[in-house]
Amino acid sequence: MNTTIDRDAVTFENAEVIIGLEVHVQLRTGSKLFCPCSTTFGSEPNTQTCPVCTGMPGTLPVLNEQALKLSIKAGLAIGCEIARYTKWDRKNYFYPDLPKGYQISQFDQPICGEGGIECTIPKSDLPPQTIRIERAHLEEDAGKSIHDESGKGGQSKIDLNRTGTPLLEIVTRPDIRSAEQARAFLNELKLILQYVDVSDCNMQEGSLRCDANVNLHIDVDGEKIATPIVEIKNLNSFRAAERAIEFESKRQFKKWKSSGEAIGDAPKQTRGWDDGAQKTVVQREKEESADYRYFPDPDLIAFVVSDELLDEVRQTVGSLPPQLRELLTTEYGLGSYDAGLIVSQGREVVDYFLAVANKAGSDKLALGKKAANWISQEVMRYLNENQTTIGNYPVTADQLAELLARIESGDIDQSRAKEVLAKMETENCDVDTAFQALGIVKVDAGELDSLCQQLIADNPKTVQEVKDGKMKAVGSLIGQARKINSNVNPGELRNKLLEIIAAS
Ligand SMILES: [Zn+2]
Repeated sequence: MNTTIDRDAVTFENAEVIIGLEVHVQLRTGSKLFCPCSTTFGSEPNTQTCPVCTGMPGTLPVLNEQALKLSIKAGLAIGCEIARYTKWDRKNYFYPDLPKGYQISQFDQPICGEGGIECTIPKSDLPPQTIRIERAHLEEDAGKSIHDESGKGGQSKIDLNRTGTPLLEIVTRPDIRSAEQARAFLNELKLILQYVDVSDCNMQEGSLRCDANVNLHIDVDGEKIATPIVEIKNLNSFRAAERAIEFESKRQFKKWKSSGEAIGDAPKQTRGWDDGAQKTVVQREKEESADYRYFPDPDLIAFVVSDELLDEVRQTVGSLPPQLRELLTTEYGLGSYDAGLIVSQGREVVDYFLAVANKAGSDKLALGKKAANWISQEVMRYLNENQTTIGNYPVTADQLAELLARIESGDIDQSRAKEVLAKMETENCDVDTAFQALGIVKVDAGELDSLCQQLIADNPKTVQEVKDGKMKAVGSLIGQARKINSNVNPGELRNKLLEIIAAS
């Protein structure tokens, strides 16, 4: 170790942040991984337990095949190779919420091998980057310790309802280089997992949890110096993950600058994120995997993934966010921002969009963009205000397509169409009924013509201004016309006025 380096001359710009993530996803099964107990969240403590998940002697675990299928499905969705042979191992450690004294996990033969997810950092010019997945394995969750936090020295209690719940642990390679990129990765991962419906990904209920491994590679005169890896736990939101990584990378840099500590000799450390204090705090020295004394679980046989099973699961994956973004940009003319916005709302919204755009006429490229605007603005606003989902939206895709067609044919302009949509939403009615209710009738050519003649006769000064090339003056004529007849289409009126003025 070079001890003569000038630390003062090194700035944070010289440090590359190296991040790897471990994401625990609770799989959407009705029962636990090795016993029939329910996985419902929020029940009374210790009401969802049995001799198997409480680790009673003489009991035997039985694999929940649904959990295995969901983990294969998740693996396929994040581009992982699926192992054809997978086995179970015991991870041994002592903790009060782990009644067996070991956790059934997968050590050297995980169900999912190498994969990757391409992600883009929002509002950045950086090109999309693939974050590699090292592996994803199935394991059972531990229970929950409930401590008395009143300070009166009350008892600590254990709730074993969660013990044995199936988790898929997804481990990335240390490919992530910034807190924003970590958050972008987590958003994309969550979106993909929701598209394939393997988990509800509810962070409040602990269905998606994340740990981050962070260290720095500091460039000192061309030599890379690595700070010790710190694992940050207790990241209960993506925002927390982003902040914790930011905090931790700066903390490690300051520590390296100020201490003479020989980097590389320091043990790995586990720190927890304190969301209140917005800082990471020391928890314990991190175990090396040897400390867990992994060995194959003698109670469970290895599992062979057959061609039939793999095909069966593959058929259920469906289109994924990256393919749908591609489809929306190439076939429906959306920009990448709009495509991303529609896809980020979930599969049902994409299906709704496709139904509208496909119905709205043969020219998908022209109408796709309009459909996207109406959905991302008007429809999403309704869903947010009413805290509901597209499945409960009162206007069907066919009805919205009909409304867009009426705008296209000139029956109605944009701002009146918004009134029509609001009517359709509140009255749960079709376009014609909404038109009637709002007194909207198409102004015919004769009516439009006589209206224009009247306006021209009443406003000689304005007409002269238009003739002199002051095209803005037309606006005041349109304003007057709308007061006389609110059904007049401003675009049509403008064209007709200019036509008559030019001919006079
Ligand atoms: Zn049980």
